Amino acid sequence: MLHKLLFWGFAVVFPLPLVFTYDFVATVPPSLKFYIFLGLIAYAWWLLSIALSVRPSWLDRFVGLPSIYGLHGMLGVLAIALAYVHSDYSYSPSQLARDLGDWAFYGALGVLCYSVFFLSGWLVDRSKLLLRAKGLLETVFRHRFTVWIHRINLVVVGMIWLHAHLLVRVNQYFAFMTLFDLYTVTVLAIYTWKKWIAPDTFLRGSIMINDALGESTRRVCVDLDSKAATLRPGDFFFLSFEGSPSVSGEWHPFSVTDDNQKTLTFTIRQHGDFTRRLDRVEVGTRVRLEGPFGRFESIVQNRDREAPLVLIGMGAGVSALLSLAAAHHTSREIHLLWAVRSPEDAYFRDVLKEYEAATGSRLRATVNVGRFRREDLVGILPAEVIAKGAFFIVGPNLAVLANQRMLRRIGVSARRIHQERLTM
Ligand SMILES: Cc1cc2nc3c(=O)[nH]c(=O)nc-3n(C[C@H](O)[C@H](O)[C@H](O)COP(=O)(O)OP(=O)(O)OC[C@H]3O[C@@H](n4cnc5c(N)ncnc54)[C@H](O)[C@@H]3O)c2cc1C
Repeated sequence: MLHKLLFWGFAVVFPLPLVFTYDFVATVPPSLKFYIFLGLIAYAWWLLSIALSVRPSWLDRFVGLPSIYGLHGMLGVLAIALAYVHSDYSYSPSQLARDLGDWAFYGALGVLCYSVFFLSGWLVDRSKLLLRAKGLLETVFRHRFTVWIHRINLVVVGMIWLHAHLLVRVNQYFAFMTLFDLYTVTVLAIYTWKKWIAPDTFLRGSIMINDALGESTRRVCVDLDSKAATLRPGDFFFLSFEGSPSVSGEWHPFSVTDDNQKTLTFTIRQHGDFTRRLDRVEVGTRVRLEGPFGRFESIVQNRDREAPLVLIGMGAGVSALLSLAAAHHTSREIHLLWAVRSPEDAYFRDVLKEYEAATGSRLRATVNVGRFRREDLVGILPAEVIAKGAFFIVGPNLAVLANQRMLRRIGVSARRIHQERLTM
């Protein structure tokens, strides 16, 4: 919680040097100054939002990727609101500056609406109808295209930068403009570094095994060139396959299924454009891995050592939970609940039996065809576990939210429920 407060606090403070410097140097009427401040805060938040989009893994360890993307989206919304008031109440003699400001505003608004629908779960996670509509639209507006649309934000920043440089009431103050440019250049440098330079420093490896686990799931094992020394149980990576004629080099997130740091195993459900082609990717194909990301292990470590772990996985969502089970089954009481679509999809049944046998039932695994219902949970989990356990849920967004609600209803407090949704 403290980490998140610090993180949000930083976003509040981030625009202040720009605002204070302008306040100190500029001699415009106070009423106009206020609206210029709003424009400056909006610009700084757009920049910060772009900086967050590079998802630094150290920041993920601090607050988690969902919080990073959450703030990224919130800043986009708040910046639009401030930019609206700024443009409505300030004036400028330069037609070009006015036009650039307007185009930037409408460009950012368009990207925001598009992204809220396609990239965030703010709407589609709350309505099955919208989720279905998104699924249909994604046959045309593919994820890759959406990511490109999102990059219009860079053009927006370029237009606002020029807008500010054209305004005499802003550009005449050298100290302020230097700071303004420093903000812009720093963020664009971070973005450029992450997109074009950092990938050369990412982990690399080759596919060692790519075989079928059931009808629509694959096991992909990547032998790394060097150990993933910072890998922790429950972590995930973004993977990009290099030079494969079958799949694009697009980055996709997948969780590591066990606790081996040299050979990473991924369990991948094939349901979309990219994952359905995975069976054609040959052994030996080179892979780049960005990460690791994830906060499950630090949550486990920070909780009461005696608290049982309740791991609820839906389909391939069990991957991250299996690596937690692999790491902790000898030292913690674990209840692993795995919901699968059909009996054939329970491809980890034998592994789970081995864990159960090895721990003398300290780990108890329950596999269910179909979702767990409230009465299943109450029947499977002892009252003490419901009262004290740390709960981890991983699966598709709607299923995670439904399980979360169910746990709340049987008395699990919100701070003991941790989740990872398989879409972002
Ligand atoms: C933290 C995390 C861990 C995950 N771990 C696993 C795992 O262990 N096993 C597994 O099978 N799946 C996992 N997923 C889900 C997996 O990343 C998606 O199913 C896969 O990227 C979909 O690709 P597609 O093109 O085949 O499917 P599509 O049908 O094209 O996409 C399905 C949905 O996946 C999302 N998506 C598509 N492409 C990307 C992308 N490049 N980056 C992010 N999201 C995307 C979109 O929201 C889309 O609506 C994980 C997802 C996340 C966020």
